[in-house]
Amino acid sequence: MGLTDRELIIGNAIMAPPLTAYRDPWERGLLADPDLLAALARAAGGPFHVLHPERVISNVTAFRAALAESGVTGTVHYARKANKAACVIDACARAGAGADVSSVGELQAALGAGIRGSDLMITGPAKPDRLLWLAARHDGLIAIDAPDELERLIMIAGPEPARVLLRVRPPGSSSRFGFGATELDAAVTRIGDAPALRLHGFGFHLSGYDPAARTRLAGTLIERCLGARALGHPADTISIGGGFAVDYAGASEWAAFADGLPGAWCHGEQDVRDLYPYHAEVAGAAMLTAVLRADRLAERLRDNGIRLAVEPGRALLDRAGCSVFGVLGVKTLTARGLPYRMITVDGSSLSLSEQWFGSEYLPDPVLWPAGDPAALPVPTSVGGATCLESDLLSRRRIPLAREPRIGDLLVYPNTAGYQMDSNESSFHNQPIPPKFVLHADLRWSLDQLGESS
Ligand SMILES: *Cc1c(COP(=O)(O)O)cnc(C)c1O
Repeated sequence: MGLTDRELIIGNAIMAPPLTAYRDPWERGLLADPDLLAALARAAGGPFHVLHPERVISNVTAFRAALAESGVTGTVHYARKANKAACVIDACARAGAGADVSSVGELQAALGAGIRGSDLMITGPAKPDRLLWLAARHDGLIAIDAPDELERLIMIAGPEPARVLLRVRPPGSSSRFGFGATELDAAVTRIGDAPALRLHGFGFHLSGYDPAARTRLAGTLIERCLGARALGHPADTISIGGGFAVDYAGASEWAAFADGLPGAWCHGEQDVRDLYPYHAEVAGAAMLTAVLRADRLAERLRDNGIRLAVEPGRALLDRAGCSVFGVLGVKTLTARGLPYRMITVDGSSLSLSEQWFGSEYLPDPVLWPAGDPAALPVPTSVGGATCLESDLLSRRRIPLAREPRIGDLLVYPNTAGYQMDSNESSFHNQPIPPKFVLHADLRWSLDQLGESS
């Protein structure tokens, strides 16, 4: 039974407004191709992800250009936790980026992809001895998080000195990471007495996406470096971490979500307040330029011979991938007497991590194949193929461009940054969705090391 036109128009009252994702040419080509998505779906036999590593290369290149144009010597370290795909770390190595790793597995994967040990940044709290030893062995830059970790590294390092940064807890912050101000002074002194360590500087990673906060804190770290130099340390590097914003969609559509999602738009009728800022005026490499321009930060770094390390995760994956689910079932439910669709797809919200933070992934998925552009939107929520009431890929009723049907594909855009694989497991004994690498000419392969070029 189809919804009548009248029901659809009334249905707008219970449906979220659209949030149309920006799409790169590769993704438009994928959606416009008459066969490719169906062929990938057949090969996968279930949900799958698509990655376009050329876009990662251009994102890395833009960050490196922002450093070069500011006259700042520096390095870009891809924060590997944002996506585990082999083709991503491989693209980073080819584009001249290093990696930010915080487990033995991430370190091994980075080295295996061709990242040099000296281009590794090792972060994370209370790093296990094995990780500290491997990091020192490969001459990585180790961001020490706490006094006890510093003592463990002093025991483990040598005979070559290990290169370290001290992670600073931002003043006034309640973060569980990094050294407080007095601990920091003590650590600088301690490293001065430890021939197994060499203090290369200081670092931080802030939550939120405010360029000004990064400029301010970076300025104080320059002062810290100068103080450490006076005590004989090389202190030639600061790291400002990641948190470079990603611009998923335009300002005018995003404005409708300024107060979050009202329950009236959602299956289950619950408000969703805490949303990622899906529109950013200044994002990615442009945000790095903004951080460097403010308060003459670039000039102060140059004048003092200080190198800048950045650790973007999400921003290096912007527009580099999408996630595709098959529609298994379509039912009609009602809210306040108005009908809407609940579709069940062949995967789960474990492949769309935002849902696991009590939040909602907002860039609208699209149905493939596309329908009649003049059709009225169909309010539709999206559930996963599990027995959990809360397993919803989209709680809100999305204005789908046409009626969903069994066998359709539902394509979620721009999911490479954190959405795809940080939470995936073989829950219900379902296989973990494969990742396909889409090359420049729409040739494709399975994701594995040594395949992308
Ligand atoms: C997660 C993380 C990053 C990357 O953050 P993004 O928001 O993805 O840019 C960088 N550095 C550290 C220490 C992190 O924990």
